[in-house]
Amino acid sequence: EKLGINATEIIKKLFLKGQMLTINSTMSLELAEEMAVEYDALIEIEEEVEMEFGEKFDLELEDKESDLVERPPVITIMGHVDHGKTSLLDALRATNVADGEAGGITQRIGAYQISKNGKKITFVDTPGHEAFTDMRARGAQVTDIAILVVAADDGVMPQTIEALSHAKAAKVPIIVAVNKIDKPEANALRVKQELMEHGLVSVEWGGDVEFVEVSAKQRLNLDELLETILLTAEILELKANPKKRAKGIVLESRLDPKVGPIADVLIQEGELKIGDVIVAGEAQGKVRALMSDRGERAESIGLAQPTEIVGFNIVPEAGDVVYVIQNEQHARRIVEEVAKARKISEVSRKSISLESLSQHMEDSNIKELNLILRADSKGSVEALKESLHKLSTDEVAVNIIQAASGAITESDVKLAEASDAIIIGFHVRPTTKALRGAEDSGVEIRTSNIIYHITEDIEKALTGMLDPEF
Ligand code: GDP
Repeated sequence: EKLGINATEIIKKLFLKGQMLTINSTMSLELAEEMAVEYDALIEIEEEVEMEFGEKFDLELEDKESDLVERPPVITIMGHVDHGKTSLLDALRATNVADGEAGGITQRIGAYQISKNGKKITFVDTPGHEAFTDMRARGAQVTDIAILVVAADDGVMPQTIEALSHAKAAKVPIIVAVNKIDKPEANALRVKQELMEHGLVSVEWGGDVEFVEVSAKQRLNLDELLETILLTAEILELKANPKKRAKGIVLESRLDPKVGPIADVLIQEGELKIGDVIVAGEAQGKVRALMSDRGERAESIGLAQPTEIVGFNIVPEAGDVVYVIQNEQHARRIVEEVAKARKISEVSRKSISLESLSQHMEDSNIKELNLILRADSKGSVEALKESLHKLSTDEVAVNIIQAASGAITESDVKLAEASDAIIIGFHVRPTTKALRGAEDSGVEIRTSNIIYHITEDIEKALTGMLDPEF
């Protein structure tokens, strides 16, 4: 292409040299050099050093300590269905109206920001742990603090435990919001006891987890919840650089028939302005319009603020990182590289497996084997948990990030993908969706009806003795 020579001519020449190549073949460097001589061309060899993508394109710039400022915490609300996640998100958003600002307009843009005692708090507006873990599986950690909502009249339910595992796997601090305390049958004490069984011990009982009793419906204790969030955030000492070229994460995206691709983005560094050249995954463009979470047009959007961006050429995916780039040529190069890299990783993508464990351990110094357990009954979950815990060695700890009864679900697979875990099923099978998900992501699922077979395999894998032919 660069020499302006037809591919068939080159293929013909190669053929005469005894080289059967097609237009899709890769040429060896020697052969390419030989061919270049024939066309009086010079080959320059670029040494591709493997680098993190951000580093390679100078996207992740160093921060000067003096440029860092406190930034608002980003909160995700999780919990069992119908326990009041959406109600709580709406009620918390409404608290802002008291600040005399034009709240009330509830335009959904993936996140919103409120202020409390002069400090800001950002809430991710997609409740549930699937979205949360989806993003983490793509390498993006958005959330600083997770709020686990548990309805006081219903207590701890399966998805409460799931949400808890997801938050723990992401290593984010958890605040428990015991909701619906206005109901006569509410029993906050029971919620505390049940969660203690799962390792969440309230501060009152000598643990380190804050429990706040609230009612989203009657707006009880919402101030207390916000204050608890601010206190937790203070301990985290969240900082970011507002002077840097902006960077953010796509929370949601869609194609609007009138304005084109729209991305809801949470700005994590710097300040995004109209006219900035941007990339996100395989999408690129120039910021044409910015909309705040109040539905107002803005000239620029700052730290931890959500915004709707119009200006991408195609719809970027949730979890893609948005970077501001110096100029459009550079942006184009980056997007090309991303597309290429994604094609390669689609083919070679492989999550951790028992067979590859010892290799992984050597290559990347892993010290933990993350497992997700599913069994047919609570009793067998406990039995399995116990026998697997015993397998920890001095080199590798067996870390059980989730253990529950019931079929292996799609959400388990997502969690495994995001946490580099293997799924173990005892007397249970994966759902069809879970199976498909596991195939796509390369997550390993091992099922057996004999505990001994499971423990033996894992023990062998841990000691690097597992027969690769297994
Ligand atoms: P989500 O599925 O977790 O998002 O739950 P929703 O926010 O949709 O709430 C489920 C149901 O519980 C709705 O009918 C709400 O009105 C109700 N609800 C939510 N919070 C409260 C509360 O604090 N008290 C009472 N009594 N009902 C509530």
